[in-house]
Order: sequence, then C-alpha cells, then structure tokens
Amino acid sequence: MDYIPFHVPHIPESTYDAIRDVIKSGWLTTGPKVGIFETSFGQIINSKNSVAVSSCTAALHLAYLAHKLGPGDEVIVPSFTFCSTINTLVHVGVTPIFCDIDEKTLCLDPHDAERKITKKTKAIVIVHYGGMPADMDTINKLAVRHNLVVIEDAAHAFMTKYKGQYIGSGSNTTCFSFYATKNLTTSEGGMITSDNAEVVDFVQLMRMHGISKQAWNRYGKEGDWHYDVIAPGYKYNMTDIEAVLGIEQLKGVQTSIDKRKYLADKFKHLLRNNPNILLPAEVPYQNSQHAWHLFVIRVNDQSKISRDQLINELKIAGIGTSVHFIPNHMQSYYKNMAGNVSLSVTEKVYNSILSLPFYQDLTDEQVEYICANINHLTQ
Ligand SMILES: *Cc1c(COP(=O)(O)O)cnc(C)c1O
Repeated sequence: MDYIPFHVPHIPESTYDAIRDVIKSGWLTTGPKVGIFETSFGQIINSKNSVAVSSCTAALHLAYLAHKLGPGDEVIVPSFTFCSTINTLVHVGVTPIFCDIDEKTLCLDPHDAERKITKKTKAIVIVHYGGMPADMDTINKLAVRHNLVVIEDAAHAFMTKYKGQYIGSGSNTTCFSFYATKNLTTSEGGMITSDNAEVVDFVQLMRMHGISKQAWNRYGKEGDWHYDVIAPGYKYNMTDIEAVLGIEQLKGVQTSIDKRKYLADKFKHLLRNNPNILLPAEVPYQNSQHAWHLFVIRVNDQSKISRDQLINELKIAGIGTSVHFIPNHMQSYYKNMAGNVSLSVTEKVYNSILSLPFYQDLTDEQVEYICANINHLTQ
C-alpha cells in the first residue's frame, strides 16, 4: 500500500481551466468570481449574506470587531479549538475564558460556560468540532438570558445541519474556513455569514482597507480613481483565483457530503468490534447532519499501545494521522496568560484522540488498510 497522507484535497478537473481563465482575464485579485462564490455558497447553505475573506482567522477577527468586543471584556471559548479562534480574541484586547467541552459531542459544554459567566462576559464563541453541531438551542438560550453575543467558528461545519437548518443560515455571526485541509478549500480563504446588516456592512468595509463602496473595481472600466477611507480597515479580501477553486468544488457538494457519510459509516463498521477504540458520537439532535470534516477516534486505557505510540506505528505502516487539537490552555502563551486552568474533559479527550485520514478520494482499500492496522495495533 502506498503512503496514505492525512489529507488530500479534492480538486475537480474543471478547476484548471477556470483558473487559467481567471489568469488570462488579467484580474487576479478580488473581482467577479468572489461575488459568484459568495452567491453560490449562500444559496447552498441558505444564508442571507455571505462575505468572503482571506481566511477563517480573518473572519473571526472581523466578527469580534463587528460585535465591538474589546479591552475589559471576557469571552467564553472552548480551549479545544485551533489557536486562531483565541489568538484573534487577544488581537482585539479581549480576555479569553477557557471553557470545557461535552464528552460526547466534543463541542462547548453549555453548563461549564454558564458557570464561567461574570459581569464582564460579553460573548460566547462556539466551535462545531469536526463537523458535529454544537448544542445551539441551549447556548443561544443561555446567551439571551445573559445578554451575550454568540459567534460560531464553523471552520469544520460547512454542510453541518442543526435541527433542519444549515450552520450559517441562522442569526449568529458565523465564520467558515476554506484552508487547504478543510472539506471545501480555496487554498486559503474564509467566509462570514450573518443576517445582521450592520455586521455585514462592517465586514464588507473592513476586509478592504476600510475603503468605502466598490473600491475593488477602481481599476475596472466602470471604476473611479477616487476612493475614501472611512475606517482603518484590513487587507482581508479573497482573490478571484481562490474563489474559482471554491466555485468548482461547490458544483460537486452533494457528492462530497455523500462520500463523507459513506466513509464515516465504513470506518465505524470496520472498527465497531474493537473495544479499545471509541468511535465518534452520533449527532444527538433531530433532523441534523454531521459534515464529517474530521473522523476522530479515541484510544482507551486498555489499548495494547498508547495513543502516541499508535500515531508512530501508523506512520511506520504508511498512514498519516493528526491530533485536533492540543488544547490552548496547555500552550505556552496561554498558560502564562491564564495561569493554571483545569479542564478535565478537554484534557482527558486530548490525551486519547486521533484524527484519521478522511477525504473524498480515500478508497475502500485504504480505509480497510487503516482499520486493519488500528485493530491489530490496539488489541
Ligand atoms: C482551520 C481552523 C481555523 C482557521 O482557519 P484559517 O482559514 O486557516 O484561518 C479556525 N478555527 C478552527 C476550529 C479551525 O479548524
């Protein structure tokens, strides 16, 4: 068996022509393709407004600014996320308050969040971990009771459905990632969805230097040389080259989600009789859908070898894996900042998790090979 990388992006053949056309058009940066990508994305997940940006990190930064989070404010956030969810809170001057996760869904635990609310708390940031929807009804109710903003990190949650609605179609400001390893990729890229006109206007303005109105077109035929900077904005725009990668993948979105479901079922089937492997939980809500961005297993204490040894042995067998995530309260910077925070579920989960190769072009034989190795090594 050839080496099985942790991730391989699925790039439809049509992408190569589409990118050539963009390059030939001479319009390499933000242009008409970004608008088309925003519209197609919004139609698929049924969001009223979708604003493309350069990354999910940029999206989160702008979302925090749009909701006027700043110095003196506390924001409750799971430690169990990628560092950029939290770094961007620090960028705007907020004190992040690390919250524990639910042991089944691996998403923010609303009960722990409630315990951590103080007079300074302004917002809760949630992460739909791996494509599993967070417990949004409980979190939204908690937010209403305490007058908090809810911001959703949906970096894993393109096509995640919660109680009949796609993540990103509701009223909370929601941030998506199209980084190279995500289940929809533009190489680098992100999107903000919101039904709040003020937030949308702010993000549109700030992603492009704070220059008012249609400034991207100032070099076009209809463009105007004159522009006005009405706020000190950022350089967070998406390019047309990135956008066409997204446009071409969106045409195959149903095939992609179907294949991910198929692969998840196959992994679960082949690992089901292994008592030392804990499989991902079923989505505990009606009429909901896991996006299967990640397939994360847990290795229990009875396993013949530890999680760390398993990573090494799988590597020797030619299988790439990863760990999502090293909790942020255990990272040097945040340890210094927050002191000794203890999050028992997060720490326990972190020590046992393993993300397996999981992507559209993974074959049945590869899945069988991966599972045979895991079963042999752990029991
Ligand atoms: C990937 C990721 C991000 C950052 O996305 P970028 O597009 O690379 O900025 C943020 N949050 C989570 C949970 C992620 O997995």
